[in-house]
Amino acid sequence: MAKHIFVTGGVVSGLGKGLTASALGMLLRSRGVRVTMQKLDPYLNVDPGTMNPFEHGEVYVTGDGGETDLDLGHYERFVDTDLTRDSNATTGSIYSAVIAAERRGDYLGRTVQVIPHITDEIKRRIARLATDDVDVVITEVGGTVGDIEILPFLEAIRQFRLDVGRENVFFLHVTLVPFIGPSGEQKTKPTQHSVTELRSRGIQPDAIVCRSEQPLSTELKRKISNLCDLDVEAVVNAADASSIYMIPLVLHEEGLDEAVCRHLRLHTGPLALNDWRELVGRIESADRPVRIGIVGKYVSLPDAYLSVVESLNHSAFHFGAKLQLEWIQAEHIEGMLAASRLADLDGIVIPGGFGQRGIEGKIAAAGYAREHKLPCLGLCLGMQVMTIEYARSVLGLEGANSTEFDPASAHPVIDLMETQRRVTDLGGTMRLGNYIAELREGSQVHAAYGASVVKERHRHRYEFNPRYRGRFDDGDFVCSGVSPDNRLVEFIELRSHPFWIATQAHPEFRSRPNEPAPLFRELMRAALGRAEQRTLDLLEVAPAGTDNRSNRNAPPSADPPMVREALTIGAVGADS
Ligand code: GLN
Repeated sequence: MAKHIFVTGGVVSGLGKGLTASALGMLLRSRGVRVTMQKLDPYLNVDPGTMNPFEHGEVYVTGDGGETDLDLGHYERFVDTDLTRDSNATTGSIYSAVIAAERRGDYLGRTVQVIPHITDEIKRRIARLATDDVDVVITEVGGTVGDIEILPFLEAIRQFRLDVGRENVFFLHVTLVPFIGPSGEQKTKPTQHSVTELRSRGIQPDAIVCRSEQPLSTELKRKISNLCDLDVEAVVNAADASSIYMIPLVLHEEGLDEAVCRHLRLHTGPLALNDWRELVGRIESADRPVRIGIVGKYVSLPDAYLSVVESLNHSAFHFGAKLQLEWIQAEHIEGMLAASRLADLDGIVIPGGFGQRGIEGKIAAAGYAREHKLPCLGLCLGMQVMTIEYARSVLGLEGANSTEFDPASAHPVIDLMETQRRVTDLGGTMRLGNYIAELREGSQVHAAYGASVVKERHRHRYEFNPRYRGRFDDGDFVCSGVSPDNRLVEFIELRSHPFWIATQAHPEFRSRPNEPAPLFRELMRAALGRAEQRTLDLLEVAPAGTDNRSNRNAPPSADPPMVREALTIGAVGADS
């Protein structure tokens, strides 16, 4: 029978509960334990698919097309497993199921209540992950103890322990031990209060992970152990780490996995952490500088691009590169100011997104990258804007656009497919989850993947318009990956460019710390090449009046007049 670990959080949100849960999952997996993970979210949305990225961060897409919380991305990356939509349940989805059952008459006329009906549904969601091929289910409860919405979840996990037996359940509580400047002290009171709150719901934690800026003293741990009625070994400290990938090592040194295995009577194999230690070693010793820009709309909330950032990190780890990320607000580079913002970069990513805002800036960035041989990776919307840019600037298709942004476009190079057009409910029209693409032999994408057939996750409505495929067949632009029926374009690239590659998919959802997604890895390789060239350029003595930024890959005279003008304006557009 599977064992269960429940992770709750106290004091404040944003403590890294999801990362703590993921790191614990990774440690158990490294002992040979078969782990799966899930997140219970107390909000009322049925799933995060409709939530604003500015508010909720990235929507993480699972292989089966679930639109889920971004913590599932951490789970997959740390535990190196593919999850499904079942790994994310919200209050909204739980109530929907219960209300639908009530309408069907399943409750035989009884009064339907939070306890037991909602709590039973929560327990059902937890239990359904405990399949025969799983040893441990880690369930993170979103929100913070003390929130009104969290109560049914706490009640459900309390009952769950009673249902399956104490030795099969481990309660882990994540809290904050703040440092109060004026008194120069770390304070345990918030932890005590939050454990008291948890206990008032009938849950005594089996371990506490105390987040802190600086390490806790043994004395302070003893104090917490005493006040919260826990063995001192069960008080684990996770002080701020410079990389999230260090957290498993910190938790292991603090004895968390040992405490969990002891309590759950898990007889595991030896811990195999060598690969992970090696990864952390590479992160710590990274010294090849590289500057990558993310040209997006939601750049004021970097969590909106969490998986893109992690994929770039994984690629940087691969090459021992020290990644410097530049957040570029797409709107700020509208009006051909791309050069002033992009000239000093080694590569750019144009990520996914919805809606018109910033589109012209992204198109300008794609154009700048194309003309200046700046490595550029387009993801989903990124592929669409690169297609539009090429249509307008190279193929001379004036007014080319996506019908998402200009329904009356003279050249709708990106459009809804016939099947999507017939559906009126927008939620029903998305292409979601895994789709297969066949890659063209000899293409850069084929070389990057080292495979002819690949599977990537999708989340979009619009597609490369098949009516324009012939127009793009100009000897340079290549549709290097297509759906097996050859109707949908999945990857594009340029023969004449070192790296101007895009995909309709979201490969960022499948990148792992020790195995970066192939297109990100190759973007990083190209960007590092450019960075190293930049260093060599700087070492050369530049004749007076020469601009080193622009002479890397194209002579300054090759700049179109508008771009040359922009180059003299100076850096603008830094996102506030
Ligand atoms: N808005 C575009 C579409 O719906 C792209 C979506 C995305 O980038 N995820 O097709």
